[in-house]
Amino acid sequence: MVRRDGMSRFEGSFLGDANRIAPDARLECKVCWHVYDPATGDPVWQVAPDTPFSALPEHWRCPNCDGDKDQFMVLHD
Ligand SMILES: [Zn+2]
Repeated sequence: MVRRDGMSRFEGSFLGDANRIAPDARLECKVCWHVYDPATGDPVWQVAPDTPFSALPEHWRCPNCDGDKDQFMVLHD
């Protein structure tokens, strides 16, 4: 695990705190507003439906803007 203590907190960004993300939570890319929905998965990265954000591959990036996982924020309905 990489510690990110040196980084300042982005509001709503998970910053490795993956266990605080609900399995069915949708997350939005703050760069391009692409939404990752676990119910859909990600056809671009061949991620199966019902894959929680926290279970995405380590190398997963935003399929729309190639942004880092850390750029995603939990969407609250
Ligand atoms: Zn994006």
